[in-house]
Amino acid sequence: MWQNIIGREISYTATAEDIRRELGLLSQISEEKVELSKIKKKCEKCGHDEASYYTRQMRSADEGQTTFYTCTKCLHQFQDN
Ligand SMILES: [Zn+2]
Repeated sequence: MWQNIIGREISYTATAEDIRRELGLLSQISEEKVELSKIKKKCEKCGHDEASYYTRQMRSADEGQTTFYTCTKCLHQFQDN
């Protein structure tokens, strides 16, 4: 979950600069996703059955590639584990 990743980052760094960088990264991700494909995927928040998605290599090597989804109805962001 994004929330967990962000919480961990902030607890490690705790400077305003790092938090801003993290938020900037998230907004870049949102913009990237507008261009991307849609897929049948049930939103975990509102139950809508279509989401846009993309894959991203995580910074830590052991996390590998992760697929991110954005609900096309409520814009909730979530990912597969
Ligand atoms: Zn939704």
